[in-house]
Amino acid sequence: MRALVLTGQLTLETDRPSPVCAPGEVLVRVTHAGICSTDIELTKGYMDFHGILGHEFVGAIAPGQDDALHNSGFAPGDRVVAEINCVTPGSPSRDYFARAQDPQRTTIGIDRHDGVFADHASVPVANLHHVPASVRDTEAVFVEPLAAACQILEQVHIRTTDRVAVIGDGKLGLLCAQVLATTNCPLTVFGKHDAKLDILRQRGIATMLSDQWDGRRDFDIVVECTGAPVGFDQARRMLRPRGTLVLKSTFEGLTPANLTSLVVDEINLIGSRCGPFVSALRLLEAKQVDVSSLISAQYSLDHGLAAFQHARQKGMLKVLLVM
Ligand SMILES: [Zn+2]
Repeated sequence: MRALVLTGQLTLETDRPSPVCAPGEVLVRVTHAGICSTDIELTKGYMDFHGILGHEFVGAIAPGQDDALHNSGFAPGDRVVAEINCVTPGSPSRDYFARAQDPQRTTIGIDRHDGVFADHASVPVANLHHVPASVRDTEAVFVEPLAAACQILEQVHIRTTDRVAVIGDGKLGLLCAQVLATTNCPLTVFGKHDAKLDILRQRGIATMLSDQWDGRRDFDIVVECTGAPVGFDQARRMLRPRGTLVLKSTFEGLTPANLTSLVVDEINLIGSRCGPFVSALRLLEAKQVDVSSLISAQYSLDHGLAAFQHARQKGMLKVLLVM
């Protein structure tokens, strides 16, 4: 099969053997996959990952596999997405929340588990979710990052009176903004690219260019989605004392932080990563978020390396791979 493989550098292999399923896993024929900022960071050495890259995908369960699918509620041909944190079948970690922090976990396309930038991928049956018929493949491919955005609502109780800011108008920022908007809180999204902020304004979400911020520190909750070390400080400066700072960015490198200011202002600091696929699928099915406007380009897997070049360009939104 074809696969984008990271071995120090990224290469397109065309004769890679199909994955061998571990116990509790099934083979999925990948139809679409999304290149995420984490994938770009992995090519720079983040997590020291080697293997098939990719964790955002939609696909169909491959034929056969009766034993692995027995009593699972899934059948060959079913259209599915899969959570990325994997544990073995006997594990006590039975849901996404437990699996995300299971010390034994591997992570699809990120940590010791081959990923989905390939014709086929092997994923745990326990991680699968059906894709509703009304959700297109090009929407379902966003479930993983959209679920990560939904995780904020699992961790922070947002009142309709809370002043909330999102910093960053990249892929994750645009998804987090749309999820936070469902709470009807007063929300402002800060970014550097007017064209990207316009995607949100079209949906009635208030935006501001970062350099137009008036310096007032009166946000109750700030969600940092810049994907860059500077985001932490920016977010920090917008928060009121005893406010809540939610960190979503993962990147290779260090964050220079003034930790004393967190102590003095008694800031609640929340790290936030993987989230509930069920919520993300529900939002897509109810058309409460729009992901189509986040697609910058689509490439055949044959041109996967060119797709990565495209995705690496500054200011790019989602680049999809089509298998
Ligand atoms: Zn991702």
